[in-house]
Amino acid sequence: ALSIGIVGLPNVGKSTLFNALTKAQNAESANYPFCTIEPNKATVPVPDPRVDVLTQIANPQRTLYATIDFIDIAGLVRGASKGEGLGNQFLGNIREAAAILEVVRCFDDENITHVEGSVDPLRDIETIETELLLADIQAVEKRLDKLQRSSKGDKTMRPAVEAMERLLGFLNAGNPAASFPERTLDCLAPHFRDLALLTDKKIIYCANVDEDGLQEDNEHVRRLADFAAARSCDMVKICAKVEEELQGLEEAEAKELLESYGIGESGLVQVIRTGYHTLGLISYFTVGVKEVRAWTIRQGWTGPQAAGVIHSDFERGFIRAEVISYDDYVKHKTESACRSAGVLRSEGKEYIVKDGDVVHFLFNV
Ligand code: GDP
Repeated sequence: ALSIGIVGLPNVGKSTLFNALTKAQNAESANYPFCTIEPNKATVPVPDPRVDVLTQIANPQRTLYATIDFIDIAGLVRGASKGEGLGNQFLGNIREAAAILEVVRCFDDENITHVEGSVDPLRDIETIETELLLADIQAVEKRLDKLQRSSKGDKTMRPAVEAMERLLGFLNAGNPAASFPERTLDCLAPHFRDLALLTDKKIIYCANVDEDGLQEDNEHVRRLADFAAARSCDMVKICAKVEEELQGLEEAEAKELLESYGIGESGLVQVIRTGYHTLGLISYFTVGVKEVRAWTIRQGWTGPQAAGVIHSDFERGFIRAEVISYDDYVKHKTESACRSAGVLRSEGKEYIVKDGDVVHFLFNV
């Protein structure tokens, strides 16, 4: 499954945020028995008002939202890439993540020590991202070394070696792997994918503020927001402490607490939703009397690929998909009414499933 790794310097609020995510997971875990529970992973439902509307219409026995995994990645400090702290294990965990949620401290509190001595989000980001870059440089050096050795007896390896050398130079100049122009080169692409470089991952900045900062952006948040915008990265603002508190409350109480801070939606929900979108994920829906369910796919997936998320037999035996757009479904309320109205489409193997499609697969077993 695609996951998002939570990174940040010590004492910025990562554990507090991860605890809130874990509580959100536990509150829902009975509905998601197929999700394995691991100590450093939180599998949380992605709130989606469309699923709520479909549930109202179909009145099923159960409703399942799409889910997304967050991984708690401890141990990023200055020098992590040199193996200080949790170093290597840390790097292993983060390589598996498809995107990074970078928690940045944006609250002042004299009682909570900042490892670098003061609160300064941009400096912290630089510290973190330098470590990520250094780790990538090491990984590329290792791979280059290996390639050089095997290219001695095999001239056809030369282009890969040279491309890897240029990548190393590019990283050494301080650039992230994500912007390396030759990444799609035939001789490089397989290595590039395999290395899973950290500076190739999408980043979501998570500004952790205190209660005051929720109502009004403080100076730290404003600086971070400008920085994230300049990099075309998503940013979400949360108060990790409030999020943890919210998870213990009934819906009405939670709403009241949010209103008292002048916000309509919890930061956790924004983190979850932003993560889902940053990963390039979309949902299609299945609607029945037993279950209304959102399924997660990647943008661009075809009918058979999307069917494979439900069951591999569905992918292998795919015949066609009966597809109704979300809006049409909501308007006509049943599959048969959609059929009569002519808005149910029969789609074949080449069909690219769209976000919000209500789908019924037909397949051979
Ligand atoms: P981590 O080291 O990044 O995992 O940080 P923690 O989640 O353990 O938080 C470090 C300290 O900061 C704890 O004492 C938290 O209670 C506190 N903390 C976390 N979030 C906030 C916040 O939003 N406001 C304030 N004032 N303190 C916070």
